Amino acid sequence: MADTVIDSGIDTGVETVVQDPKDWGMLIGGEWVEAAAGERIEVITPIDRNQVIATVPRARDADADRAVDAARRAFPAWAELSFPERARTLLKAADLLEEATEELSQLTAVDTGNAIRTQARPESTMLIGAFRYFAGLAGEVKGVTLPTASDQLQYTRRQPLGVVAAILPWNSPLMIVAFKLPALLVAGNTAVVKAAEDAPLSVLRMAELISEVLPPGVLNVVTGYGAEIGEALVVHEDVDKVSFTGSTAVGAGVGAKAGGRLAHYSLELGGKSPCIVYPDSCTDEVVEQVLLATRFARQSQSCTTGSRLFLHEAIHDEFLDKLVQRVAQLRVGDPRDEESDIGCIINAKQWQRVQGYIEDGLAQQGAGVAYDGRGSLTADDPGFYHAPMILTGVENNWRIAREEIFGPVLSVIRWSDEDEVVRMANDSHYGLAAFVFCQDLGAALRTAHRIDSGWVQVNQGGGQQVGQSYGGMKQSGVGREFSLEGMLEGFTQVKQINVRL
Ligand code: NAD
Repeated sequence: MADTVIDSGIDTGVETVVQDPKDWGMLIGGEWVEAAAGERIEVITPIDRNQVIATVPRARDADADRAVDAARRAFPAWAELSFPERARTLLKAADLLEEATEELSQLTAVDTGNAIRTQARPESTMLIGAFRYFAGLAGEVKGVTLPTASDQLQYTRRQPLGVVAAILPWNSPLMIVAFKLPALLVAGNTAVVKAAEDAPLSVLRMAELISEVLPPGVLNVVTGYGAEIGEALVVHEDVDKVSFTGSTAVGAGVGAKAGGRLAHYSLELGGKSPCIVYPDSCTDEVVEQVLLATRFARQSQSCTTGSRLFLHEAIHDEFLDKLVQRVAQLRVGDPRDEESDIGCIINAKQWQRVQGYIEDGLAQQGAGVAYDGRGSLTADDPGFYHAPMILTGVENNWRIAREEIFGPVLSVIRWSDEDEVVRMANDSHYGLAAFVFCQDLGAALRTAHRIDSGWVQVNQGGGQQVGQSYGGMKQSGVGREFSLEGMLEGFTQVKQINVRL
């Protein structure tokens, strides 16, 4: 294959090599195919709105039929494999991905705008780690035996669900596919992965790499719009489970449709996560962790962003000063550049949406600006660059404190009483993540236990660990898939067998 140098038009001295041809197919039944209707979608890079870096097929109903049929045909043999064989295949897939770590990371940077050092590379390594972790769990897909009388044998078997449609968002495609694919495969299911229309390339390349070791049809990848191929998969009668990650609005419809036909489904949705700092935690170390929680290094395009920062009034000003000084050091720049801390927002629509929230926040009485790094970055820039913004004096009932912005806008809220801050933290229709910073571990854990979120971190702000339980409460989601228990609950079903001996 020839290589093409992608030039973003931004003079950073960085070039990325992306594979040619730029016209990708979809992986169905081990073949790279066009959409049945022959239509294609252009993929632009967020680094440069004028640059089409690839085209992908625009799949519709007929393509859902083909992909689901391929996954169905591959299912019996894959499910029938002994568990060590499935484990071996996943380990080989991990090795292939590891050899291509750098390529996948570069492609992620170009595809999503996520900065290579702070985000894109960790996403690739998370994917590799997840394949290895779930390979090691292959033997855990097992049943139990009841201690019955000697003339009875009563036992259970854990069986795969069948064909899983995995629907992905654009913000961190390799990380989200890592949350789903290794777990569903090791449990014996086959997959139709639907890549996000805004960032499909890293997932297609991942599929190209690991299809070398996966039997044809075990992994299929389709591309196109949510309302077309996404919906076609959700309503497809031969899809046994829909594993969806995306917005709460779309997820509610996906759950209703999949549930309406009594298919299994899981939903990983949005968040408006609280980050609570106690008066004993006004240190540089905590500032670093809070910075991680803001997900500024990911343009805050993360479902687990700690976007509501609750600062105790005793340390409010001092902590904010420290945070602002640190944020001012972050470099917004070409996501392919190792020096960049922050890359680009995914597209023009999302960039404008973030402006709308900023305007709305600033229009509220009492709103202040602790940091506005936007400076010379404007809507006219060819890339969708956006520096962080920290708003103070925010009330928990303002729109910017209630809705998911999915952009680098942090709302700072003052608190004085533990009950009050827990009430405010929980006063949200979301319940995905939360962060508690407190040196008194008793108080920290007391608060952690009272917060209605699926994932609470104490005294740290980083991302998910391979194997941890992950999922939302309230309108942040339904179901778990990423841990051992999540894999068992999310991707298997139990059969009881009672035998009279
Ligand atoms: P989105 O809901 O617009 O789209 C997600 C995926 O669903 C895309 O592939 C899209 O094509 C598809 N889709 C859209 N309409 C569909 C339909 N009617 N039927 C089936 N599929 C459909 O979300 P997005 O803008 O791509 O991603 C951002 C959102 O994802 C944010 O709200 C973020 O919080 C959420 N997210 C959640 C998690 C999590 O783990 N909880 C992780 C990442 C992102």
